[in-house]
Amino acid sequence: MADVYNWQLGRAMPYPYEEAHPRRQFAAVFNINRCIGCQTCTGACKATWTFSKGQEAMWWNNVESKPYGGYPKSWDVKILQKLDEAHRTLGEQAEWNASAPTGEAPYGAYTGKTLIEAAAALETGEQVLGYLPEDSEWAAPNYYEDTATAYKGSKPLGLSAEGATLPAHQTWFFYLQRLCNHCTYPACLAACPRKAIYKRPEDGIVLIDQERCRGYRKCVEACPYKKPMYRGTTGTSEKCVACYPRVEGNDPLSDGVPMETRCMAVCPGKIRMNGLVAIAEDGAWKEDPNHPLYYMVRVEEVALPLYPQFGTEPNIYYIPPRWAPRPYLRQMFGPGVDKAIERYSAPSRTLLAIMQLFRATQKMIFRYEIEEGPLVYEKEINGQPWQMYDDTIIGFDSLGNEVARLSVVEPMIHRTAERANSI
Ligand code: SF4
Ligand code: SF4
Ligand code: SF4
Repeated sequence: MADVYNWQLGRAMPYPYEEAHPRRQFAAVFNINRCIGCQTCTGACKATWTFSKGQEAMWWNNVESKPYGGYPKSWDVKILQKLDEAHRTLGEQAEWNASAPTGEAPYGAYTGKTLIEAAAALETGEQVLGYLPEDSEWAAPNYYEDTATAYKGSKPLGLSAEGATLPAHQTWFFYLQRLCNHCTYPACLAACPRKAIYKRPEDGIVLIDQERCRGYRKCVEACPYKKPMYRGTTGTSEKCVACYPRVEGNDPLSDGVPMETRCMAVCPGKIRMNGLVAIAEDGAWKEDPNHPLYYMVRVEEVALPLYPQFGTEPNIYYIPPRWAPRPYLRQMFGPGVDKAIERYSAPSRTLLAIMQLFRATQKMIFRYEIEEGPLVYEKEINGQPWQMYDDTIIGFDSLGNEVARLSVVEPMIHRTAERANSI
């Protein structure tokens, strides 16, 4: 095992291969607060990539209702239980020391075991602590769709007299949007005995070489997010390909510049922003505060990785929902949750402008500029004064061409009287 640095864990960790990083990394930010659970993303991926025989139960993108929903069924509960059992067997705690965050360790340091460390400590004989779901567990893309947790109030039927108020609702669920995280240290790649899985040096996209794969399903077992899937008709495993022809700028619509993937580009809730971030030789994100993803993940830290404690350094980041219980969210997104929600709830001038850029264009945005506008609104949020300015944000593609221009206050169009009733 080599020693590699995982900035999400704030420490080095073992990995079967030497540290090597792509020049740019495929990444995205998902704003859970905006998702309407419409599954347009899920359908777009299926219609593009998994409509063939043998792929019927494959959903490379799925959106599940938390806390109960999951695809495959209960995937995160099962892997969390395994990790918890491992810590108990070893007499250790899976904890974070978040008291002294730094630039290299923005969430502090995870002092528990990753899935690779747990497998080694327990001498399982596997590269990664994991499990292989049963066929039946893959049967639906969102088991327990829209199922909320039980009422917690003391009134009849357990209803709460206060009703639902922020910061945490008595009764809650939220949608979690999931695809392959194109991890920095992929568990699927670590576990493949055929070396059929590779991470592309140009964009960090993780792919399974269909010629080399023999369908041993070690990737399915090892990926904690359960995003590689076995296809019986070909006897190989398949997974999200990050719509690489679009990312390469080879889609006819893209004008030769990198374009966002299908699941990102169709999102009516405007919750998704996809891009490529520049990576330094040591794996750190190169400082680039005018890149919208860099700004949200590394400057404001409003978007967080999913289950960072698994140790794969996933590259899809989530703005956590404001209304769900914090302990549940801290388990899911790590110790950065409170700061992220606080900043999202009273967004800075720059963050508010960047939020307008979501789904403004299908082209990947590599840089933004903000033209300052007038003060339009003032109020108090969480006991602090807060101002809203009608700034204009401009997004640029990889060649520096303007591809989006939006103001914070969206224009109001009044219909003329003779068209008042027309659609
Ligand atoms: S999410 Fe799973 S399949 Fe995707 S790169 Fe990470 S470990 Fe591999
Ligand atoms: S990036 Fe492309 S292949 Fe991957 S889940 Fe989204 S639509 Fe499917
Ligand atoms: S398309 Fe967007 S809003 Fe609809 S379920 Fe997917 S992520 Fe959520």
